[in-house]
Amino acid sequence: MALRKLVAGNWKMHGTAADLGEVAAVSLAAETAGCDIALCLPATLIERAVRAAPGFAIGGQDCHAADKGAHTGDVSVAMLKDAGASLTIVGHSERREAHGESNADVRVKAESALRQGFGVILCIGESLEVRNQGQAVATVAQQLDDSLPQVNDTSRLAIAYEPIWAIGTGLIPSTAEIAEMHGALRERLVSAFGEAGTDIRILYGGSVKGSNAAEIFAIPDVDGALVGGASLTAADFLPIVEAAAH
Ligand code: PEP
Repeated sequence: MALRKLVAGNWKMHGTAADLGEVAAVSLAAETAGCDIALCLPATLIERAVRAAPGFAIGGQDCHAADKGAHTGDVSVAMLKDAGASLTIVGHSERREAHGESNADVRVKAESALRQGFGVILCIGESLEVRNQGQAVATVAQQLDDSLPQVNDTSRLAIAYEPIWAIGTGLIPSTAEIAEMHGALRERLVSAFGEAGTDIRILYGGSVKGSNAAEIFAIPDVDGALVGGASLTAADFLPIVEAAAH
């Protein structure tokens, strides 16, 4: 049976108080949407967004694996929770690239968050070079194996397959390529977690828009989307939510 879809927005380093109206507008739609919705915001906005949209799922974009300590600039799961968030992205390719995060780093962050009852969207994806070498599936499957949290309860875990070359570029893989990748990732999840692996949502991310969302959501084992640029306004984001509900 198809899983209820999750459409999550990633605002990246965008958003100030002036943009809170967009969160409120999305949260209103969430009350009647036929899918789950979340917005992963800059840490500075989380508490105000929770106040502007009570009960709506607000997330962070990264977390530190430790609860507290000498980690200048980092934010712990306990701090995200304290601000009112209920989930976080980990392992986004921009963090892997710009902050040198390894699969092992991503795994301990995901384990820390899940063990504290937090939702996790764990990102993986290949470069264009790897795709052109015909190594995309093998590389991303290995990345999944190496960053997968070792936990008993995977009910709050989602995986986001995000080809790096599709992020913010307007390029997307073909339907067959997405289907092949998501099918391979589903197999890995089932081999890691047994029956529970069939319930872990696998999101697609990379240039999802209102105009292509329905086609992407129709692909087997695509259980939602992680959306960057098109999540910044309710006008761009809600058509994607609408497509997920069908
Ligand atoms: C992302 O960075 O997670 C993303 C999917 O970005 P965009 O939708 O802008 O390609």
